Amino acid sequence: MQNIVFDHVTKYFGTQKAVNDAHFQIEAGEFFTLLGPSGCGKTTLLRTIAGFYRQEEGDIHFGGKIINDVPTHQRNIGMVFQNYAIFPHMTVFENVAYGLKARSVPKNEIEKRVMEALEMVELTHLRDRVPSDMSGGQQQRIALARAIVIRPALLLMDEPLSNLDAKLRVKMRSDIRRLQKELGITTIYVTHDQEEALAVSDRIAVMSEGRVQQIASPEDIYAYPANQFVANFIGTSNFMSGECRGYKQETGEAAVLLSGTDFKLKLNKKYEGKVLFALRPERIRLASDNEKTGTVPGEIESVTFLGEKVSYIVKLEGGTRIDVQEHAVQPHHLRQERQRVHVNLQLDKTTMFDESGKEVLY
Ligand code: ATP
Repeated sequence: MQNIVFDHVTKYFGTQKAVNDAHFQIEAGEFFTLLGPSGCGKTTLLRTIAGFYRQEEGDIHFGGKIINDVPTHQRNIGMVFQNYAIFPHMTVFENVAYGLKARSVPKNEIEKRVMEALEMVELTHLRDRVPSDMSGGQQQRIALARAIVIRPALLLMDEPLSNLDAKLRVKMRSDIRRLQKELGITTIYVTHDQEEALAVSDRIAVMSEGRVQQIASPEDIYAYPANQFVANFIGTSNFMSGECRGYKQETGEAAVLLSGTDFKLKLNKKYEGKVLFALRPERIRLASDNEKTGTVPGEIESVTFLGEKVSYIVKLEGGTRIDVQEHAVQPHHLRQERQRVHVNLQLDKTTMFDESGKEVLY
C-alpha cells in the first residue's frame, strides 16, 4: 500500500488557480474525501492525481516516487465517475472484464477475478445482462466492480452517487465504505455533499476557491471548524458577533461581551476587538428557570417540532436570532412562542473566530 503526497501543487486555468498550493499527505489505506462547493477545485485536484491534468507547480508523490510525468495508464488507478462511463452494448461481465483483457490477463484468471468483483458488489446474478436495462444503482455497481477488478493501488471516485435517488445514495455509500475497508484500498472521493463526506471518510479536506481550508476527521471538522467558511459549510451554525476586551497576558483570559452579557474566556492568543462565534444548534440549550449565570436572555419566536428534535428560534437581546435544538423527549413540555427564556450558550462547546472569520481564538 502506498501513500500520496501533494507537495505545494498548483494548477492554473489561464490565470486562475483552480488548485492553489495543495500541500498534504494521504495515508495508505485511507478513505480521503475532497469536499467543497461547486467550482472549488476538487475535480481538478483529482484529475491531477489521475494524470489527466499536469500541475504547473509542485510535485505529486505516490508510494515515495514523483509521478508528475507518469501517464494515466501507468498509474494503476481505478476510477468511478458520476456518469458511470460503462459500455451499454457489453454485458455486465464484459464491462468488468474489459480492463483485465486490456492488460492481457489470462482467460481463466479473468473469469475468477470478474466473478470475485461482481460478488463484492452483489451483481453475480446479472452477469449476462446488458447495463442499458439496469437501474442507476446497478450501473454504478458495475462501474465500481470494473474499477476494483484491476486491483488498483488507488481508487478515485468523483461524485459517484450524484445520479442516484436519496435512499439509494445512503445504501450505496455504506456499501462503498464497506468494500473500501475490506480491500484496504487507498481511496480519494470527491463530493459536494457534506453529509456523504461525514458518513464515509477517514479524513476530509474542505476546499474553497482552490484552497484547502482544513483537513481533519469528520468528528473534528464538525466540532472544531478551522474558520468561518468550514463552520458554515459543514453542519449548521449560528453565527453571533461579540466584542473581546481586557486581555490579560498572565492568564490568557479576556472578557467577551455577547448579547449584553460578559463571559470570561481563555484565548489561544492575545486579541482584542470584534469576534465571531459559531454555535451548533444542538450544543446550546434553553436554560432552566433558576439558571441565570452564564446565560443570555431572549424570547422564543418560533417552535418547530422535528420528530425526535425540536427547533426553537430565539431572538436574543440585541436582536440576533439563533436556532436552539433540543431532544423532544416529552412533546407536551415544549416551550411556547413569545415565551421569555434564557439560553445557555455552552461556550466551552463552541468556536470563536477573529473578526475576519479566518482564525480560531477560542
Ligand atoms: P464541481 O463540483 O462543480 O465539479 P469542482 O469543485 O470539482 O466543481 P473544478 O471542476 O475543479 O471544481 O473547477 C475549479 C475551477 O476551475 C472552476 O472555477 C472551473 O470553472 C475551472 N475549470 C475547471 N476545469 C476547467 C477547464 N478545463 N478549463 C478552464 N477552467 C476550468
